[in-house]
Parts: sequence; C-alpha cells; structure tokens
Amino acid sequence: MTHSSDIKPESWLVSAGRGSQPGDPLNVPLVPASNFLIGSGREYSRDDGTPTWEALEALVGGLEGGKALAFASGMAAIAAVFDQLAVGALVVLPDDCYQGVAGLAIAGAERGRWTLQRIGVDDTAAWVAACATADLIWLESPSNPLLTVADLAVICAAPRKASAIVAVDNTFATPLNQQPLKFGATVALQSATKFIGGHSDLLAGVATTNDLGFWHAIKKSRELTGATPGTLEAYLAVRGARTLAVRLQRAQQSAMLLAERLEAHPHVMRVRYPGLASHPTHATAQRVLKGFGTIISFDLVGGAEVADAVCQHVQLIQHATSLGAVESTMERRAAIPGQEHLPPSLLRLSVGIEDGEDLWTDLAAAIEVATSKI
Ligand SMILES: *Cc1c(COP(=O)(O)O)cnc(C)c1O
Repeated sequence: MTHSSDIKPESWLVSAGRGSQPGDPLNVPLVPASNFLIGSGREYSRDDGTPTWEALEALVGGLEGGKALAFASGMAAIAAVFDQLAVGALVVLPDDCYQGVAGLAIAGAERGRWTLQRIGVDDTAAWVAACATADLIWLESPSNPLLTVADLAVICAAPRKASAIVAVDNTFATPLNQQPLKFGATVALQSATKFIGGHSDLLAGVATTNDLGFWHAIKKSRELTGATPGTLEAYLAVRGARTLAVRLQRAQQSAMLLAERLEAHPHVMRVRYPGLASHPTHATAQRVLKGFGTIISFDLVGGAEVADAVCQHVQLIQHATSLGAVESTMERRAAIPGQEHLPPSLLRLSVGIEDGEDLWTDLAAAIEVATSKI
C-alpha cells in the first residue's frame, strides 16, 4: 500500500486498507472474529484488534497524520481520553461543545474525579493561559452547534505541562479540513458515525495520536472497558469513507449557497456559518480550516414555534438529528433536553449531497409556510 504522505488525502481515502498481494481481496475483508489461532501475536480481538478494525484505523490515521485506534462510538473514543486522567486533574472544556462530552465532563466533576473550567471557544488568550495549568485541554472546532472556530494553531502551540493532553474533537471539520496533530495536539477525535461513515447507518469512533505512549494507554482503556468497534461498523465506515472527499466538496458548496441565501432572507435573524464574512470567527476559519464545512445554524424570526413548523414542512431535508451524512438533516437544538440554553429558534442544518438548488427550494418553501401566520 502507498503511504498516506505520498498521495493526496482524496487518493488515500480510496486506496487505504486494501490488500497488496496477488489473490488478496480488493476490498477490506469483513472478519467477524473474537479469537485467532495462537502464534501470530493476535489472539483475542478485544485486546489485539481485527483486520477490519485495522483497515479503518489505517485509513483515518493516514488522514489525521498519526496512529489511530477505532472505538465503538465517538463517545467511546472520547471516554478513553478522559480515562487517562488522574483523580484531581484540571479539565478545560469549551463553553459550546457536543452535549455528550459536556455531560461526561460534568458527571465526572460531580463525582469528584476532576475539576472543570469552561472557556469561550474564541477566547484564545484564556485558552493559552489555561494551557499552563490544565491536565486536559479539550477543544472542539468548529463547535457544536454555534460553529465558533477555535484558533487551534495558537492554542495547540501554547506552553503546557509535559503531561498535559490536548485533545481536539475534529468531527465537524473532518481530517480533510483540519489536522489538529499538525498544530501540536496530542490526540484528534472523530465520531466516525458522522462524516467518515457518511450514511447514518453506523456508530463508530476513532482517536488518532502521534504519541506512541498515549496510543498504548488508550488501547489499554479500550481493552479494559471493552469499547471495541463492531466489525460490520468498521467495514461500513471504511466503505463510506471512500467517498468522503467528494461528499464533503459537494455539500460544502451547497452549504455556502444556502448560508448566503438564508442570510439575505427577511425571516432569518442570524446565520452562523464559518464561511460567511459576517461570522465572528470567519478570519480564524480562513486561517485554520481548509474548508468551512457543511453545517449551518440559523435563527428564525418568530421563535421556537416557527422553527418547529419549518422542521415539519421540509420534505427533501430530513427532520432528524445527527450530521455529516449524504442526506440533509435539520433539527431545533433547544428542543433537546439539556440544550435549553441555546437560542430557542436555532435550527442546525447538516447539508447533504442533494442538489443545492433543490435544497434551497425545499427550505425556502418551508420557511414561507411556517412564517405565513406571523
Ligand atoms: C456525534 C458527535 C460525537 C459523539 O459521537 P458518537 O459516535 O455519537 O458517540 C462527539 N463529538 C461531536 C462533535 C459529534 O458530532
């Protein structure tokens, strides 16, 4: 197999994990196995992995620029990072991030396992200051769901304790738009459930690091907690990832189109998309991201009721949670328990690979119907 550094990521996505010997299957083999004949060093999959998981690890590791480990879900990979903390550690978390991560961090703090400090995603000076004392610096950029972009180039290079972990949830950016390890992060996380898989048909997560000691530590966590990926899921994630670059390129084009049209719409109060000049962290996004992504958040005039009505009236766009798939999905985030702090009418739209004009026709019609009564 060609090395990931010899070819463009677009080519790596298509070629990674394939066989190389005459007679090898062209595609990644689906190996449903808990145990293997003793003698090769691979005996039990929870400890030693399987060829199918390793294909996913090779693929994502090559993209992120490190050594990867696949997990049962994005949260399983994230929990393995938190699992490295000694009791009493200081964890620094963004004020806007994936609710599962916030939930995990808050629950651990309540049990006295660590203390928690929250910092605004775009408050770079506060992040740099916190790096000096923190044991785990947790970053997510662009953030979920407000799409604020953190200055990873500066934060990941800030002086920190030798033992500190800088973890970046890279799910929204994908390794095609951002490579946190290149900025100096310890570990990059992917919920492969989202863009890597890309078809809303699996749960998987991947952690990638350049620190071999850290890789062995999270591998030990995976072994001891049993947070192993499903074999079919790993196979599907590789299969889905083959088309990641073309999916992302097309969805990103449509996202820019929709963001611009939403911004000009009289019933839209505010659009958050890192590609818009009006976005508060647009300049940072231009510097640290290769592309602005496929997620748009926007607030409607008329509040939660109107936002709910838009969700009811879209037809091509699916009223569903999650993101990063071939199909466009949209939901009102403040309707989710625990997310009531968000603007009540904020809709998060994950743009898929449908035709961009068709998506706009669908969305504009739904907004028209929903706002006709106000
Ligand atoms: C979905 C998501 C996760 C969690 O991943 P799962 O695969 O659902 O466990 C973590 N971070 C971000 C940014 C996500 O979107």
